[in-house]
Amino acid sequence: MQTFEFIRARDSAGAIRAAATTTTAQQGADVRFVAGGTTLIDLMKLNVETPAKLVDINRLPLATVEATPDGGLKIGATVRNSDLAYHPRVQKDYAVLSQAILSGASAQLRNMATTAGNLLQRTRCVYFRDTAMPCNKREPGTGCPAITGANRMLAILGTSESCIATNPSDMCVALSALEATVHVQGPKGARPVPIGEFHLLPGSTPQRETVLEPGDLITHVTLPPPIAGSKQLYLKLRDRTSYEFALASAAVVLTISGGKVTRARVALGGVGTKPWRSPEAEASLVGQAAEGTSFRKAAEAALRDARPQSENGFKIELAKRCLAHALQTAAMS
Ligand SMILES: Cc1cc2nc3c(=O)[nH]c(=O)nc-3n(C[C@H](O)[C@H](O)[C@H](O)COP(=O)(O)OP(=O)(O)OC[C@H]3O[C@@H](n4cnc5c(N)ncnc54)[C@H](O)[C@@H]3O)c2cc1C
Ligand code: SF4
Repeated sequence: MQTFEFIRARDSAGAIRAAATTTTAQQGADVRFVAGGTTLIDLMKLNVETPAKLVDINRLPLATVEATPDGGLKIGATVRNSDLAYHPRVQKDYAVLSQAILSGASAQLRNMATTAGNLLQRTRCVYFRDTAMPCNKREPGTGCPAITGANRMLAILGTSESCIATNPSDMCVALSALEATVHVQGPKGARPVPIGEFHLLPGSTPQRETVLEPGDLITHVTLPPPIAGSKQLYLKLRDRTSYEFALASAAVVLTISGGKVTRARVALGGVGTKPWRSPEAEASLVGQAAEGTSFRKAAEAALRDARPQSENGFKIELAKRCLAHALQTAAMS
């Protein structure tokens, strides 16, 4: 690991000023905020991230979960994943979020990991994490060995010729189904970013993963008021039942009345280059009977544009079954 300067931010303005001096907020940034450190320090040990300066944001007053005036929820950037998952309001009104967080990593990691850090966790693509290998995301223009190499864990939705890396977050899949908003404060002021617009598709610039600019600090995330009577579920399929990333996952928020689906929010994990909301599945569900045939049709719609790589074709059927099963289980709950 390279040597670096470590400074403790006393206020948000100071943290933003320090990070605004860098030329990018993405891969290669020479100033980085550090929160739980469970992504960043890992990648620094591997020399994948080599910032000259770390700005510790753990003492900023961003660690609270509060009700918003409209009945929603405001989640501070440094709220630990465990605290969020076990928060009574989250368990009662946003169960899909609690379930998604608890399906990820390990208890120790969740005790350190923060809301903002989870939003910005990096792909687990093996080539990205190995500096001996080329990788367009780590070093733009060097190529993507995953396309002809080890791609079993990688994406089938939203891929490009430059990168097929999966977004590994569970939490973000639930936030997508809950239509969360990410609040950012930067050198030019504060702005809200809908979660669906926060992460970028790789296209020809896979090194750029989000809309963040140099100096941008995530301050909090808001959730809209809960949908009364909604049925929520997060289902994660993986190679082993703990401490493992998703092969496919589904977050569903369903409202059912008179045996028919009246509202549906659906997002997939483990299969997309970003947390994958599926408007196609949602449209296919609304007005249909809350039963297996409708759920399978929605799953077909969600995966219609999937493009398998050499080793991950199995994910298409796996993701369909995952979503159909999540919908069925939620409907019966
Ligand atoms: C072994 C292992 C297994 C895991 N398994 C899973 C899993 O199954 N599912 C899953 O979803 N995740 C999993 N994770 C990932 C884990 O959830 C993330 O590492 C964690 O959420 C990152 O949060 P952090 O606070 O530690 O981030 P940090 O490492 O502190 O930061 C991550 C990035 O976010 C930036 N950052 C942090 N806070 C802010 C802010 N407020 N504003 C702007 N930028 C900021 C940092 O500069 C850095 O670039 C796993 C991690 C490990 C190590
Ligand atoms: S899939 Fe993306 S992260 Fe993985 S090697 Fe290709 S460019 Fe790098």
